[in-house]
Amino acid sequence: MRIAILSSEVVPFAKTGGLADVAGALPKALSRQDVDARIILPLHEQIDRNLLNESVIEIEVPWRGGRRETNVFYSSVAGAPAYLIESPEYFSHGSIYGQANDHERYTFFSRAVFTLLQTLKWAPDVVHGNDWPCGFAMVDARTLRLYDELFSQTRSLFSIHNLAYQGVFDPEDLWWLGFGESPDKDDFLLKDMASALKAGLIAADALSTVSRRYAEEIQTSEQGAGLNWLLRARRDRLTGITNGVDYELWNPETDPHIAAHFSAADLSGKQECKLDLLRRFDLEENLDRPIIAIISRLVTQKGYDLIRKLAGAITGTGAYFIALGAGAKEYEDFLQDWHDRAPRQVGIYKGYAGEPLAHQIEAGADMFLMPSHYEPCGLNQMYSMRYATVPIVRATGGLDDTVEQFNPENGSGNGFKFYQYSAGALLEKIREALYFYSQPETWKKIQLNGMAMDNSWDAAAQKYIQLYQEIIDR
Ligand code: ADP
Repeated sequence: MRIAILSSEVVPFAKTGGLADVAGALPKALSRQDVDARIILPLHEQIDRNLLNESVIEIEVPWRGGRRETNVFYSSVAGAPAYLIESPEYFSHGSIYGQANDHERYTFFSRAVFTLLQTLKWAPDVVHGNDWPCGFAMVDARTLRLYDELFSQTRSLFSIHNLAYQGVFDPEDLWWLGFGESPDKDDFLLKDMASALKAGLIAADALSTVSRRYAEEIQTSEQGAGLNWLLRARRDRLTGITNGVDYELWNPETDPHIAAHFSAADLSGKQECKLDLLRRFDLEENLDRPIIAIISRLVTQKGYDLIRKLAGAITGTGAYFIALGAGAKEYEDFLQDWHDRAPRQVGIYKGYAGEPLAHQIEAGADMFLMPSHYEPCGLNQMYSMRYATVPIVRATGGLDDTVEQFNPENGSGNGFKFYQYSAGALLEKIREALYFYSQPETWKKIQLNGMAMDNSWDAAAQKYIQLYQEIIDR
């Protein structure tokens, strides 16, 4: 089985969020199961060139009526072959997203992807695109199937990691991007704008999203981000597969980033990690008080409006609070203000910190907050569980699928879960968690329940293989 996995971000090359973790881990897990899975991504400015092989594949990408000479680099560090498309014009400067010509950049990416596949004479059984930047490739795959013999059997799968990001642009640009004819043009149009996500949702042969629960939620008007009607119409082609965890990277027994290793059999190293974390953030060093942590993009989706309302109440409990995040200025200002008021109790890191600090927080914290408004899958709750850090989450999307409320009657459950999106409901769960934290035996039980969860990618990869096979057979 040959699968081309396209993504705008992939660990270990470039990352802004969970998509990169998934796009790195899935191909690796597929390769372990003898699937010929290959990754294709843009060679962004921030990618460490030391990760690339020296040899270069030269391709000529049909672009805006001419041909654009383009270099493609190769890397084997990701556990599956990876091709990185260089473009001085589109990818060599600035951020991964958020540029005014994103639609042009990722259309170019799509054209380069298929030119590369033609050059390699490697026809995937399935082209697997992820999120709106790959919506263009879903449309191109549909077209190329008709005109290029090489791709006549190639099918497409489009995975939604977050429906709220829709890749919207001026529809005037559809013409010169090469999407001016029907059906492409109509597929892009969404309320006087063009949307790469919408076009991908229509053009792809099959759709998937990153948890079972989110697959249901996005068909509702509350969570459908204006596209629920389309997802409902295509629900027979929509599958929810919960992301896994790359336990090679997220394992407290071997993690190179953390102060001491620990396991379910011996948790003692976790205390060392906690002390290390308190020192890193220059907080008081009282190991008896719990650390509540959060790592997330600073956006309302992640529940930061609730946390802001509760800042005083959280510090009032005596717990430490550690936040790592990049995003909206209003939340960065809030965190700064909170830290300034309690500098030895509230530790903050504003910005994207890279992997080591995220691992150190997971290892050293006692509780991990994810009070998300919506959460397609969420990865940190699963990382937390493996690191004996107890998640406190809102019952939405993948959080609802992976976290089970602790039940003191029979000792089952791996975390704390609230339903209503309100500061009061969140505070109640924080208080409940603090109550059980003060009972060491009970707390250890919750930690061990979480550590015993098997959220490995192997099971999830198996589901993807089944899905690819269904798409091929259809
Ligand atoms: P999302 O994809 O919506 O951002 P996920 O929970 O699926 O949320 O994944 C977020 C990933 O990004 C996790 O691996 C998390 O550790 C990482 N992350 C988020 N913000 C930062 C940051 N500021 N610094 C380092 N890592 C971060």
